Amino acid sequence: MRRMNEARPIRPDIGAGRLAPEALADNFSDIHPPLEAHEALVEADRCYFCYDAPCMTACPTAIDIPLFIRKIQTGNPTGAAQTILSSNILGGMCARVCPTETLCEEVCVREVGEGKPVKIGLLQRFATDHLMEKGGHPFVRAEPTGKRVAVVGAGPAGLSCAHRLALHGHEVTLYDAREKPGGLNEYGIAAYKATEGFAQREVDFVLSIGGITLETGRALGRDIHLADLRRDFDAVFLGLGLAGVNALGAEGETSTGSADAVAWIADLRQTTDLASLPVGRRVVVIGGGMTAVDAAVQARALGAEEVTIAYRRGQDAMNASAYEQEIAQTRGVHIRCHLQPRRILTQGGHVSGIELERTTVEDGRLVGTGEIVTIEADQVFKAIGQSFLPDGLASEDAGVVLERGRIRVDAERRSSLDRVWAGGDCIAEGEDLTVVAVEDGKVAAESIHAVLSAQQGLGARIADAVSGAVEALSPGRM
Ligand code: SF4
Repeated sequence: MRRMNEARPIRPDIGAGRLAPEALADNFSDIHPPLEAHEALVEADRCYFCYDAPCMTACPTAIDIPLFIRKIQTGNPTGAAQTILSSNILGGMCARVCPTETLCEEVCVREVGEGKPVKIGLLQRFATDHLMEKGGHPFVRAEPTGKRVAVVGAGPAGLSCAHRLALHGHEVTLYDAREKPGGLNEYGIAAYKATEGFAQREVDFVLSIGGITLETGRALGRDIHLADLRRDFDAVFLGLGLAGVNALGAEGETSTGSADAVAWIADLRQTTDLASLPVGRRVVVIGGGMTAVDAAVQARALGAEEVTIAYRRGQDAMNASAYEQEIAQTRGVHIRCHLQPRRILTQGGHVSGIELERTTVEDGRLVGTGEIVTIEADQVFKAIGQSFLPDGLASEDAGVVLERGRIRVDAERRSSLDRVWAGGDCIAEGEDLTVVAVEDGKVAAESIHAVLSAQQGLGARIADAVSGAVEALSPGRM
């Protein structure tokens, strides 16, 4: 007799085209269809335009939410978008991917009082979509300053920093290791959150301010080097993201069918034909964060029949928000908690299941109970976190001090190395949120601008003093 938790021999089944094109199109359609104009007006009418609005305080980029909602209410969506974008130039993407239920909408007085917040995210999307569809750029660059800044990484932090620097009149060269700019927005989030090429349209919008030269396929430490950038530019911003993925360290991890969720999501985002992407019938995702949910929901959307998220702690400890968990569950993903991976089972070198151990918490510590659970699977995705790879920071730049494995910065996002700033996921305080990365880029850009302006001011004062001295020495030449 077979034990209940024992994997029976199965033939691994990973295949493409499990669903008809219409079903795939439906499954990957926009998860939050945008508001119509009349819906936006009705929703804007629900706002109390609070003084000291808590929603604004909760926004990492401090968007003036009551002001932009007031502008929508008075029929001025373009002005509303300008208000949003003046604080957060990636306001369009943030309207799509921000966990608003744990930020602005969580503290909205309508949520606190009635359990139904103003739909701030959807209103933000309404305004920013309106402006982007209209075309043009809402801001005008200052006069060129003659200062040059290198921004490494064209993800949310780098784009935000580059835009703000260009706005102040500085000349920016924006490098990225990948072939396309956008970072996580382009490669790392679920396809149904940013449909119809929105990530690239937003990059084009950001760059349309002018003064930014984009160089893709240029990796720090391989094609460009920090020492050279420091020599050739007036300042450097590092928005390097997290290139490393954590390993399970479990037997069977390298078998066919075992994959890293981040790389799989990137492949999915770049494919032009969803039907060509292979997916298992039974999929297990290890992890409890947003990446685990994005991988699991998309595996279901591609046609996987059984998808399970296995997480080692309780559901309330998952990094994925309650709302993200609800999306997973309403789309047919089973979330099983208190299970930690022991080994990946294989047949003929291919994943056939995963063996997990039940866990419990004793004296605040997570411990295994020794009870083993086996789940049959054709495909296992690991989504147990990413890490910063400091490979691009050559030894001669050891001045870039790391803290908890990431770059240490001060409140202005200055690293410990002179004229080098950093922001986004690669810094010690990084929160792995797009909106936080955007704020990092903005804060760093303002700090860089202050330093470069002071240099210019000093330069002008020295020039004035020199010219005054020359005049004093040569009065007859006037
Ligand atoms: Fe409007 Fe809610 Fe913000 Fe108050 S807290 S300003 S009601 S969105």
